[in-house]
Amino acid sequence: MEIVPVPAFTDNYIWLVHDEASRETAVVDPGDAAPALAEAERHGWTVTQIWNTHWHPDHTGGNLELKQATGAPISGPAQGRIPGRDVDLSEGSEVRIGDHVGRVIEVPGHTLDHIALIFDEEKVAFVGDTLFAMGCGRLFEGTPQQMFRSLQRLTELPAKTRLFCAHEYTLANARFAAHAEPDNPTVHRRLSDVERRRSRGEITLPTTVAEERATNPFVRASDAHEFARLRAEKDSFR
Ligand SMILES: [Zn+2]
Repeated sequence: MEIVPVPAFTDNYIWLVHDEASRETAVVDPGDAAPALAEAERHGWTVTQIWNTHWHPDHTGGNLELKQATGAPISGPAQGRIPGRDVDLSEGSEVRIGDHVGRVIEVPGHTLDHIALIFDEEKVAFVGDTLFAMGCGRLFEGTPQQMFRSLQRLTELPAKTRLFCAHEYTLANARFAAHAEPDNPTVHRRLSDVERRRSRGEITLPTTVAEERATNPFVRASDAHEFARLRAEKDSFR
């Protein structure tokens, strides 16, 4: 399973997932169709599936155009307002690409419909706007309790699991993490590394469960109460 980032808008990543054996290609969270189609074409791939993690337009805005261009069916959260959805996903549902099977878990908090797609065998998870490298999504619809639980579920996955997030927010998140955990040397080391990579225009994703357990203050919060305090502080942190 090959996974390729497609930068979109200012700081979004659309992910292309390609299975060579079946020649299938899935697009995760196409906020914009054109860059996803162009990148697929560059690889000689044909888009055969569209997967959404939640309803926000920067994740679903390209759904209809992509479906029209390729005929690919759209799978997304059953509870969400997903343009053109063909397949309803909820806790325990599966997505398949070739022989690879992803299971769906519900991770409410950023939105109430938010899901993550987890490929256990490949140790890969598409986490949308729930978890970001060293950070997490804003709470637009859910409660701190819901989001805290969702982050815990994602970071209970095996340590080597690669987490594919939908935004390049790592530098701002790393600065907040260094502020939140001034005595954590691992956070400071990662901040330096992220600064170096971003100064060269490099992507900082995917991250891993192990890295997030070590450096993400929202994951490391001891309970939902501490999580809520951190999230509120981050909302106004500059
Ligand atoms: Zn979102």
